[in-house]
Amino acid sequence: MRALVADLSSLARVALTAAATRVRPAAAWSRGGILAMEEVNLPEPPGHGWVRVRPTLTGICGSDLKLLHGTGFSPLLTAYNPERRAILGHELTGVVEVTGPGTTTVREGDRVLVEPTLWCRHKGLPECGRCRAGEGHLCENLSRAGDLCPGQGIGFSTVVGGGWSEGVLAHESMLLDASAISEARAVLAEPAAVALHAARRWHGNGDRVAVIGPGTIGLLTVAALRRLHSGLDISVVGEPSSSSRPFGVDDALAAGADRVWTRAPAEVLALVAAHTGGTLLRPRFGRLPVLDRGLDAVFDCIGLPSTIDLALRMLRARGTLVLVGTAGRQRVDWSLVWWRELTIAGSVVYGREPDGSRTFETVREWLADPAYHVDGVLTHRFALDGYAEALSTAAAGPAAGAIKVALTV
Ligand SMILES: [Zn+2]
Ligand SMILES: [Zn+2]
Repeated sequence: MRALVADLSSLARVALTAAATRVRPAAAWSRGGILAMEEVNLPEPPGHGWVRVRPTLTGICGSDLKLLHGTGFSPLLTAYNPERRAILGHELTGVVEVTGPGTTTVREGDRVLVEPTLWCRHKGLPECGRCRAGEGHLCENLSRAGDLCPGQGIGFSTVVGGGWSEGVLAHESMLLDASAISEARAVLAEPAAVALHAARRWHGNGDRVAVIGPGTIGLLTVAALRRLHSGLDISVVGEPSSSSRPFGVDDALAAGADRVWTRAPAEVLALVAAHTGGTLLRPRFGRLPVLDRGLDAVFDCIGLPSTIDLALRMLRARGTLVLVGTAGRQRVDWSLVWWRELTIAGSVVYGREPDGSRTFETVREWLADPAYHVDGVLTHRFALDGYAEALSTAAAGPAAGAIKVALTV
């Protein structure tokens, strides 16, 4: 079968790609880059309850681009996934193609959502403390293969494979029925689950929040917050723009935002002050003001030093910053964290929420409901062979009118 394989086995090549990317964003998926189309064996279900799913539509995640660009992630995270080659694509929907022995909950031909994370039980390992607590996305055995493969799961391995190919392996417990969901919405299940989990990382103590970064995750975080808290006041912070209708604003409003601020950080802080009845306070040194009041929570879906800094300034004392964007090693002024007793809540993927519900199951219900307004998020589809153009479009983002770009298999 055809598969898009990212080869990270040569550190020199990864470093070269990272350097080349600065002048040419397409370096990683051009000739000699770390991503290439390969012909690989169709994976066979390895045991009881395993199936092969043929992906039909798979998204390109911002984290895929970061991985290919060799930028954005701290090297320390490589300790958790010793795999050096991976078939990418963890945002997939597809059709069950082959069922292994003992499969009881899905049949060949079923359309499914795929929850891509591997827990201890999928690898045949005795359950670790986190898996036992229903937090398998934080599995203590992430770096161990068991009788399968190490790493996060589908999209990060050549063993279970990834959605940018013609076949992935999944245990039936990783699949959810997608028969009532259009393909264009089903492909959003994974990022929507990321967003729901992020929304649940804030405990809901307050009534005014902001979401920074109206990309796929930001828009879906708005939609999740709106779904969870109908009366919540939600502001979205986008890139500064002089346009009267900047790209993405309509999608943010449709997802449930009350307003979108596309201003420079100083102006955003002035807007937060006005919005919360607060006052801007000017430090003797430094460019940006701080506030006496502020918002109850800020969801930073970008994770750059500039957005983390802005988020910390926007919060009221005892407010919560939910770090959704994949921040790496970076310089941030932490003074406000202790001075204002802020809470920083990290958020990664999904699993079971504090009430015991399965994140993916809630998202499945939402996607089947037309009142969950996320239809503008998928902007582009490309055939698998057109991956170079697809990745360049995704990397260009708003400049190409792109939010979520997906590959059709
Ligand atoms: Zn992702
Ligand atoms: Zn575990």
